[in-house]
Amino acid sequence: MMDSAAVTGSELRDLYRELILDHARQPRHFGSLADATHGAAGINPLCGDKLQLHLKLGASGQIADIRFEGSGCAISVASASLMAEAVNGLHSEDALALFAAFNAQLTTDIPASDNNLGKLGAFQGVKEFPSRVKCATLAWHALRSALAGDQQIATTE
Ligand code: ZN
Repeated sequence: MMDSAAVTGSELRDLYRELILDHARQPRHFGSLADATHGAAGINPLCGDKLQLHLKLGASGQIADIRFEGSGCAISVASASLMAEAVNGLHSEDALALFAAFNAQLTTDIPASDNNLGKLGAFQGVKEFPSRVKCATLAWHALRSALAGDQQIATTE
């Protein structure tokens, strides 16, 4: 965990910006998944972000593997990449709880230092830009659809 007391607010913002740009340029868990058991598409018509999420769920309900494909703005791609890193290996219920915490960060005034989101805290600044909240949550909506077993398309609209 980053010690937020040791850095100033603007340094933290710079670190977060770097993290988002890094994941937007080189998304982790990008590609298809041959033995996927679940999947969902996500579309954010407002921005033009599109992604297809592939999951492999283990017998006990944990996310054994995750990949995504698609294209979109830096925030949507970075969010999908960081989400994939964060939920890989989690039980599906814990992944959905993480979505709730991530969503709360973007829609409420919980201080970033209190949310225990780790790298996902990088998106706290997105709260200032309501139209971008949909970019940041697109992959998560697709994850929820995939875990629910829906084959329908998750849309932010
Ligand atoms: Zn976007």
